[in-house]
Amino acid sequence: MAPSIPKTQMAMVFDKPNGPLEYREIPVPTPGPDEILINVKYSGVCHTDLHAWHGDWPLDTKLPLVGGHEGAGVVVAAGNQVTNFQIGDYAGIKWLNGSCLSCEFCKRGGEPNCAGALLSGYTVDGSFQQYAIAKAIHAAPIPKSCDLAQVAPILCAGITVYKALKTSEARPGEFVTIVGAGGGLGSLAVQYAKAMGLRPIGIDGGDEKAALVKKLGGEYFVDFTKSKDVVQEVLDYTEGGSHAVLNLSASSGPLNASVKYVRPMGTVVVVGLPPDAQISSDVFTHVIRSVSIKGSYVGNRADTDEAIDFFARGLVQVPIQVRELKDLAAVYEAMEQGKIAGRVVLKCSD
Ligand code: NAD
Ligand code: ZN
Repeated sequence: MAPSIPKTQMAMVFDKPNGPLEYREIPVPTPGPDEILINVKYSGVCHTDLHAWHGDWPLDTKLPLVGGHEGAGVVVAAGNQVTNFQIGDYAGIKWLNGSCLSCEFCKRGGEPNCAGALLSGYTVDGSFQQYAIAKAIHAAPIPKSCDLAQVAPILCAGITVYKALKTSEARPGEFVTIVGAGGGLGSLAVQYAKAMGLRPIGIDGGDEKAALVKKLGGEYFVDFTKSKDVVQEVLDYTEGGSHAVLNLSASSGPLNASVKYVRPMGTVVVVGLPPDAQISSDVFTHVIRSVSIKGSYVGNRADTDEAIDFFARGLVQVPIQVRELKDLAAVYEAMEQGKIAGRVVLKCSD
């Protein structure tokens, strides 16, 4: 029997950047021919959602906006062109809600780089609501064995760090330094790195994050709030530099340091998106040490399946704290202050 779908639902909405975050009744959207309607059970809160609310980036959001792009739930309706989901399947809302699939970048697997990309919780309404729309071809298939609260953060944080680790080209046995290791992306990066045979070193601030990073498999932790010299500490521990670095923090401060402790022939991957930030590297040293700086932006559909598969096989756990959907403003406040270890997941529907 087809599930009954209400006409209205509750959502977290804002009307202008930094405007009030309102828990509001809005209509349940109707899926188009190539779309599915997902009853969102849980949604992770990513730092990107906070950047979107602040209007931090040189890319406008839709307004009014329902944020959120780590939504896990159940398919309750599908358009007549949809062939890859059935009613009742588990599905995930990712940052990349849709892309054209026919441009140069989509054809090469660079779906996030598509100029026509639709972004959940940014250019289209996202997962901070009870019912959300996704293009069926881009929605993430989630195995029924997965816990929906736990799997939600895989849909952005997991995919992103897994792809960034691949982009780093670090090989098993090599060091990867994870900047922002105690946050949402970082706490997953430590575990994907470990599962991929790498040696994760975490950088973050405070004892709670130090304990979390160690618990998740971090081999060494540098507390940036206490270390006398972060660069030297990484160089010493790795005996000459980290083979790869993932910059996952939302601050610009640590970016230029990462270029100094990467090992010769190593790669710095830039993932975190602090507003108005620059990364710079002294040309002589850059050339002589032959280091690379690469950007990495979420992942494509294959990265999505692979990242979820690591989770489904129990290789990564998601350190979550579950809160109510209407608590979003308080979650943003804690995130701003760097007080969230791991990821907060909002309960969107029963
Ligand atoms: P988060 O707030 O959960 O985690 C960030 C962590 O960085 C925190 O633990 C914080 O304590 C730590 N940190 C702050 N200053 C630091 C410093 N100087 N050195 C080391 N650590 C420091 O945020 P998140 O949800 O993990 O997102 C992180 C960033 O990644 C955001 O800018 C977000 O927009 C971006 N992001 C990018 C992509 C992409 O595809 N490139 C995808 C998702 C998120
Ligand atoms: Zn995200």
